[in-house]
Amino acid sequence: MYRLCESCLKRLGLQGKPERCELCGDIFKKIDDLLNFTYTAEFSNFNIGIKLDPNVLEKEKKIVEMLNLSGEKTLKRELLSIFRKKLREKLNKEVELEYPDVIFVFDLEKCEVIPESNPLYIKGRYNKYVRYIPQTKWYCRKCRGKGCPYCNFEGKMYETSVEEIVGEVILGYTKAQGEKFHGAGREDIDAKMLGNGRPFVIEIQKSEVRTLNLEKIQNEINKDRRIKVSELEYSNKREVIRLKREKFKKTYLVYLDQEISDEEFAKLKDLCEINQRTPRRVQHRRADKTRIRKVYKVEKKNNNCLKICCESGLYVKELITGDDGRTVPSVSSIVQKDVKCIALDVIKIHDR
Ligand SMILES: [Zn+2]
Ligand SMILES: [Zn+2]
Repeated sequence: MYRLCESCLKRLGLQGKPERCELCGDIFKKIDDLLNFTYTAEFSNFNIGIKLDPNVLEKEKKIVEMLNLSGEKTLKRELLSIFRKKLREKLNKEVELEYPDVIFVFDLEKCEVIPESNPLYIKGRYNKYVRYIPQTKWYCRKCRGKGCPYCNFEGKMYETSVEEIVGEVILGYTKAQGEKFHGAGREDIDAKMLGNGRPFVIEIQKSEVRTLNLEKIQNEINKDRRIKVSELEYSNKREVIRLKREKFKKTYLVYLDQEISDEEFAKLKDLCEINQRTPRRVQHRRADKTRIRKVYKVEKKNNNCLKICCESGLYVKELITGDDGRTVPSVSSIVQKDVKCIALDVIKIHDR
């Protein structure tokens, strides 16, 4: 039989004289020392992680089996509850199980504490008033960011992006190490994003600061006239997942390279259900398949411009050209001439 400490005896519901513990290695005596650590980043809640030597877990399992114990109060559970309680008192902060700002991982084998900071999430909407800025940083496709003659040693394909303009300001205020930008879909690089803007969440990694003046940040970002952000608010991981999953209708202004007569326009009521095979221009990065997407409404803004409301995932440029028969029907196939889209603006994301 193993020699056990007072805590382990009590936890397992055993009688006996407390001794140097062969199970936990007298870990309970080291708890106060382990709690004596410093963490300087701002946080308002936390959770605890416990890392135990696998041999200890194995030993515990053996004892429970051998003595036919319930095994309900495991060493790990006991330690979790002690560390949570003691740390809550020490830090005067609440335990948050689902989305804690930080997880303090107590490695009991190495006797050390590793703080794992969770990202800070800020959501908002963005407008993009210029063409040829991508939504996210676009690394050079030849060197993937290192810098090469193809990208003029910039490491990226475009001078800046919505992500970089927003990220630079926020990283300055949070003293964070990095960010990830999540948009509710994305417009083409050469399309403007107008109207009510596009929802996004920016994920700020290893942020030193979590209380921010979001209005000030918003104003500072908006000094850059190429984009505008609005409705900045704190967010969480759940909203990133939702943002990535949800599909929204969109309304576009489509500028055409030639005029559409009223007679031709009248025929466009036949644009309803579109069979669209993956366009050639994105084939190198998207699976080649055919999908059905709906067009909900086509209006004529003027002879060279259509306003089109359609389902998420419809490639609008190809809806105009027909992409050599890969998109059927198309504006070109219906009016029986080769119409091209010379510019595209997203004017509404129908998310609310
Ligand atoms: Zn013990
Ligand atoms: Zn390059």
